[in-house]
Amino acid sequence: MPDEQLGLFEDRLRQETNRDVHKRDGGQKIPEPIQDLTPLQEKIIEHLRSSDLAPQPPLPARSLHNYVYCARLFYYQWVEKIFVENADTVAGSSIHRHVDKPSRLEDNLAALKLPENAKLRSLKLESSALGLVGVVDMVEGGEDGVEIIDYKKGAARRNALGEMIPKEADAMQVIAHGLLLQEQGMKVAAASIYYAESKRRVPVELNDAAYDLCRQRIAEAKAIAISNHCPPPLKDDARCLYCSAYPVCLPNESAYWQEPKEKPPILERAPMPDGDTGEIIVVQKAGAVVGQRGDQLVVSVDGEEPRKFPAKQVRSVYLYGAVQLTSQAAQTCLEEGIDVGYFSPAGKFLGLLRGLPASGVDARLGQYRLFGEPGIRLQLAREIVRSKIHNQRVLLMRNGDVPDRVLQEMTNCRDATEKAVDAQRLLGLEGAAAAVYFEHFATMLKRNDGWSFDFNGRNRRPPRDPVNAMLSLGYSILSKELTGVCHTVGLDPFLGFFHQPRYGRPALALDLMEEFRPLIVDSVVIGLLNRGELTDSDFINSASGTNLNEHGRRGFWEAYFRRMDTEVSHPEFGYKMSYRRMLEVQARQLWRFLRGEATQYHGFTTR
Ligand code: SF4
Repeated sequence: MPDEQLGLFEDRLRQETNRDVHKRDGGQKIPEPIQDLTPLQEKIIEHLRSSDLAPQPPLPARSLHNYVYCARLFYYQWVEKIFVENADTVAGSSIHRHVDKPSRLEDNLAALKLPENAKLRSLKLESSALGLVGVVDMVEGGEDGVEIIDYKKGAARRNALGEMIPKEADAMQVIAHGLLLQEQGMKVAAASIYYAESKRRVPVELNDAAYDLCRQRIAEAKAIAISNHCPPPLKDDARCLYCSAYPVCLPNESAYWQEPKEKPPILERAPMPDGDTGEIIVVQKAGAVVGQRGDQLVVSVDGEEPRKFPAKQVRSVYLYGAVQLTSQAAQTCLEEGIDVGYFSPAGKFLGLLRGLPASGVDARLGQYRLFGEPGIRLQLAREIVRSKIHNQRVLLMRNGDVPDRVLQEMTNCRDATEKAVDAQRLLGLEGAAAAVYFEHFATMLKRNDGWSFDFNGRNRRPPRDPVNAMLSLGYSILSKELTGVCHTVGLDPFLGFFHQPRYGRPALALDLMEEFRPLIVDSVVIGLLNRGELTDSDFINSASGTNLNEHGRRGFWEAYFRRMDTEVSHPEFGYKMSYRRMLEVQARQLWRFLRGEATQYHGFTTR
C-alpha cells in the first residue's frame, strides 16, 4: 500500500479509536485527545506495510456503506460473509422492493443521454478503475445532468440548526454511486436520499472533496479486507444498538473478554438474533420420506396423512435410521440454512448436512495455530474440565442426597484442575470426579412404580440400562448441535483442545459440550424419570444393549427440546437466554479467544 495512503488509513484508525472514547456531556459528544492505536490496529498497519494489495473483487457500494458505519461490520459481511437479518434489514429490503426492478438493458445503454424527467431504476454499474460496483436505486434525467435518488428505511439525521441531513454512511454510498456514474461519462448534477420514516428527500452534497474522501474510504475498506484482521468492536457506541451483526459481534462481551475486570458488566441486552426460534422435525419411522412441495417440507409416512412444515420456520431436521431425504428437500435445507442431522437407528450421531460455512478463516487459522501451543491447549482444557466438574457438583448438590464429604471431593477435583500441569493429570481429575458423580447419580432419581431397573454407574457402547441409554442418546444429540454451532461460528469441529483429534470425532464440539452435559442432558434424564414421563415400557432390552423405543424417544426429544428452550442467566453478564442460544454464545467466546480477541475462555457455570 503506498505510504501516503497508509498514513491516511492510520489516521482513520486513530479517529475511529478516538470516536470510541468520546465522552458524553449533557448529550454533547466531547472528543478526547487522539488515542494510541490498539495492538490489533497496529497489527493491521504492520501487515499492510509488508504486503502488496492483491487484486480484489470490486467492492460493492453497499459494503462501503457498512465500512463507514463500522469497520467491523464491514469485515463480517464482506470478508467473512456473515450476514444476520434483523427487523431493520428486512424492512430495508422491503423499502427497496419497488425500486429493485431493473430497467431494461436498452434503457441502461441510453443512460448517457437520459432525457429530462426520464427515470432509470436499479441501475447496476461497475468500474474496474475504481474497483467498485453498485446498484443505483434511481437516476432521473434533468436539465443540467442526472440526479441520483437512493431509498433508505429510517429517518434522516438533524444538524444543529434542526435541518435534515443524510447519515454519513448513507451519503458515502450515494457519493460512490456518483463516482460510478461519472465513470460512465454521465454528468451528475445532484443526489438525494429518500428516508421512508421521515418521508422526505434529503440532499447529498457532491463536490471534489466528497469524491476524494469516497476514494480514500474505498482504499481503506480494501486494505482492511486483505489485512486478515477483524477490526475491534466499538465501545459504548449507539451504532451497535441498531446493528444487525450485534448477536455475532457481542461488542460489550468482547470488550470484557479482551480486558476482564474484576466484575463483569451487567448487560441488559441479550445477543439474540431475530427469528431465533424454529421447528425441529424429528423423523424416525423406517421408510419415511422427507420431500419438498413449494416452500414446504413434507414428511410422508406410509398409511399416514403427510405432515407439512413451512421451510422458513424449520430450524433443523433429525433423521434416524432408514429415512429418505429427497434431493429437492436437501437443496431447500441448504438454501434455507436448515441443518439436517443423520443418526443411526440407535441414536448415534453420524453426520450433518448443512450449507457452506461462514468463511471464518481467521478463527480457523487461530485454532490450528493455538493447537500447536501446549500451554494454550492446557489452559483451555483446564477451563473445560473445571466447568464440567463444577456443573456436575451443582447438579448433585441441588438434586441429590449426598454427604458433604462427596461434594468436598468434587470441589477438590475442580480446584485441582487449575494446577494440573499436563493433560494426563487433567484426564485423571476428570475421571475421578466422574466416578464420584456417577456413583451418587442414583441419589438424584426419585424411584417410582413405573420402573424396575437400577443404575450402577455410567456404561456405554452399548448402554446396559435405561439411564445410560438416555444419557448416550442425549450426549449424541448435543454433540450434533455443537458440531453445527462450530460450523456456524466458523470453527473446525474436529480439532479440539481437550479431546484429542481422532478420525470422525468432532473433538471441538465435544470440548464445548463438557460444561453443558450435566446441565442439559443429565438434567433431562433426571426430570423424565422423576416425573414418571418414561417408564420400563419405553425401553427395549436386547443382546446389543438397552435402547429407547419409538414412544420413549419421542418423550425424550420433547423433554430435551423443552430443556434447550429453558432460559438461564448468563453467569457473567446477567442477561437471560435459552440454553440453545447459550451454546452459540460460548462457541463465539471461544472463537474470540482463538482469533486473539480475548485473553481467556470462561466456561459456562451455574450456581
Ligand atoms: S455491533 Fe457494533 S461493533 Fe459490532 S459490528 Fe455492529 S456496530 Fe460494529
